[in-house]
Amino acid sequence: MASFLKDNDDLLFYFEKWIDWKTLSAITEYGYTSKGGFGSGDEAVQFYREVAEMMGEFVATQVAPHAAEIDRDGIEFNDGEATFPPRIAAIFDQIRELELHGMCLPRELGGLNAPLMLYLIHSELLARADVSVMAHHGFHGGMAMAMLVFSIQEGTTVIDADSREIRETRFQDYISEIARGSAWGCMDITEPDAGSDMGKIRARGEQDANGNWYVTGQKIFITSGHGKYHFVIARTEDTAEPSDSFAGLKGLSMFLVQTYEERVDGTRRRIVTIDRIEEKLGHHGSVTAALSFERAPAHLVGKRGEGFKYMLTLMNNARLGVGFECLGLCEAAYRAALAYAEDRGSMGKKIARHEMIADYLDEMKTDIQGIRALAMYGAFHEEMSHKVSLAQKFKVKDARWAGDAGEHALRSHQAKARRVTPLLKYFGAEKAVEMSRRCIQIHGGNGYTKDYPGEKLLRDALVMPIYEGTSQIQSLMAMKDCLGALIKQPQVFVKRFAEAQWRSLSSRDPNERRVAKLQVLSMSAQQFLATRTAAGKLKALVDKPILEWNRELTKRWDPKKDFALAMLHAERLTRLLTDEAVCELLLEQAKNHPQRRDVLERYLERAEPRCRFLYDEITTTGARILQKIADEDVGIRAAAAE
Ligand SMILES: Cc1cc2nc3c(=O)[nH]c(=O)nc-3n(C[C@H](O)[C@H](O)[C@H](O)COP(=O)(O)OP(=O)(O)OC[C@H]3O[C@@H](n4cnc5c(N)ncnc54)[C@H](O)[C@@H]3O)c2cc1C
Repeated sequence: MASFLKDNDDLLFYFEKWIDWKTLSAITEYGYTSKGGFGSGDEAVQFYREVAEMMGEFVATQVAPHAAEIDRDGIEFNDGEATFPPRIAAIFDQIRELELHGMCLPRELGGLNAPLMLYLIHSELLARADVSVMAHHGFHGGMAMAMLVFSIQEGTTVIDADSREIRETRFQDYISEIARGSAWGCMDITEPDAGSDMGKIRARGEQDANGNWYVTGQKIFITSGHGKYHFVIARTEDTAEPSDSFAGLKGLSMFLVQTYEERVDGTRRRIVTIDRIEEKLGHHGSVTAALSFERAPAHLVGKRGEGFKYMLTLMNNARLGVGFECLGLCEAAYRAALAYAEDRGSMGKKIARHEMIADYLDEMKTDIQGIRALAMYGAFHEEMSHKVSLAQKFKVKDARWAGDAGEHALRSHQAKARRVTPLLKYFGAEKAVEMSRRCIQIHGGNGYTKDYPGEKLLRDALVMPIYEGTSQIQSLMAMKDCLGALIKQPQVFVKRFAEAQWRSLSSRDPNERRVAKLQVLSMSAQQFLATRTAAGKLKALVDKPILEWNRELTKRWDPKKDFALAMLHAERLTRLLTDEAVCELLLEQAKNHPQRRDVLERYLERAEPRCRFLYDEITTTGARILQKIADEDVGIRAAAAE
């Protein structure tokens, strides 16, 4: 039987050889002590394997063959309600019967208590079949998990101290409803005037004299927005500096809003109105809704003013999810292109054997392996950071996750996940667009028709660099994290730099030398941007008393002004950081699994000239654009003053 798991050697390598399932299962099962849980790691891993094999066959046979139909049918919107056409509805009936909605939820809440890693692998498989189905599926278990995690964070979940079972949790009924597949949630952040700039959010959260909360405002572009339970970000505090986006983030709070209730006759009473369903370029099987909230009753999640913090948790997981979504789409584009190129002939040979096409296909395969290396690494450390934190909260007696060792493990997992998540989102999304476009190109004229999958893949891919934080926003985050760390702890950077330089010259393994050279190039670019940034800041200090220098240098950074050159080059730096991270991960794999040397060497062959070019661009361009912006700013200020 066709299987999207079994036909994928790279994915199987991770499943069978790389993912530390034993550690994931031990922490997910609290050391195999929970009632009704697995008795050992082997038992747990065997179960994960069976679930993954079942998913691989399900998506290949029950979802992928219907992708074109799902795309054609779109969504029905009548009398203020959005509904799925029969095909996609039938797929979700099957998913419900397979009990996949509660994959990661604890058993006592109706779930399978599987690791997040298994769910993300499932996401890749589903996205290879159809990204709309994958996106909607994500708004089931993902939202139920968020309800549970937020309740634990705010202290409204009661756990049995011995069995570690959940006795009660704040949104228990909603979670169970979602686990049964009778409802789903969504994430309402974007507004007409607030997308990347979340500080501009205007939806209001207000409390009445009895302490009840209500949300009023408009949200747009909400995926699966016809769902029942919405996490909504709304403003509860006014900011003293309305023009300052960063100040604006502090006044946001997170709410959970039920958007409709069922009447006894089976009809719905809408609490939140669906104004319209967007007609989009792609993702036709996924609902994208514009919504109006008019004093909708709401539950405040956590403390008021902490909305941004909760939203980051949601978004971090969502960005990982998009990374796996991109991976699935890239895999679909590559496989369609390869199959066509191996079948069709031109000028006496198969297209796949023409040099340029062979090069395209090789690059696509290599990039997919790079994205997957980042995705698996990010997923593992993100999951571990959540679970170590829970293990500490629930006082699990395991030396790895308790006390100082636990604290150290937590910080290390958090830092690793934080480093690669924006890189994965950026790289996966940009490659999804590039690869689906190449898929069309390799199909020639056929690629431009609806008879072949490329055009749908490209339409579906084009949103990936936009939602869950655009590629530019991911680049800014990656740049600020890396230059911020350098400026805060220059001694750590200098040590890492010296070590990389030493390895680039002295390592016995030629591949290790090559990876070290790439690290040196990346760190040289970082150093260049940091010194330019600091030099600009130092120039501005000339007019200030020397006693204020320390405070200005360590605290008063104005991200808009001080980081101008770094912001201009943020995307280039992100591409460098991505190649550096992928090569480090592939090198580690090659050291432990000789069959992975080939993957590393293919990736390095392409990354080395690319990184030299990026370094050159970063260190030699940009001044003219910055001058132009500065001159225009002067003009804008002068016009405003008149
Ligand atoms: C199909 C789809 C589904 C979506 N699903 C959801 C959802 O479920 N929930 C939700 O809340 N939202 C959702 N969104 C909204 C999405 O997250 C936003 O569209 C996205 O964050 C960008 O915001 P914007 O559209 O306002 O663009 P803008 O923020 O106006 O950005 C426009 C352009 O300017 C760039 N830009 C902005 N600021 C900077 C900067 N400082 N530096 C450099 N460049 C910058 C951006 O990168 C982009 O290229 C969805 C959107 C789509 C299309």
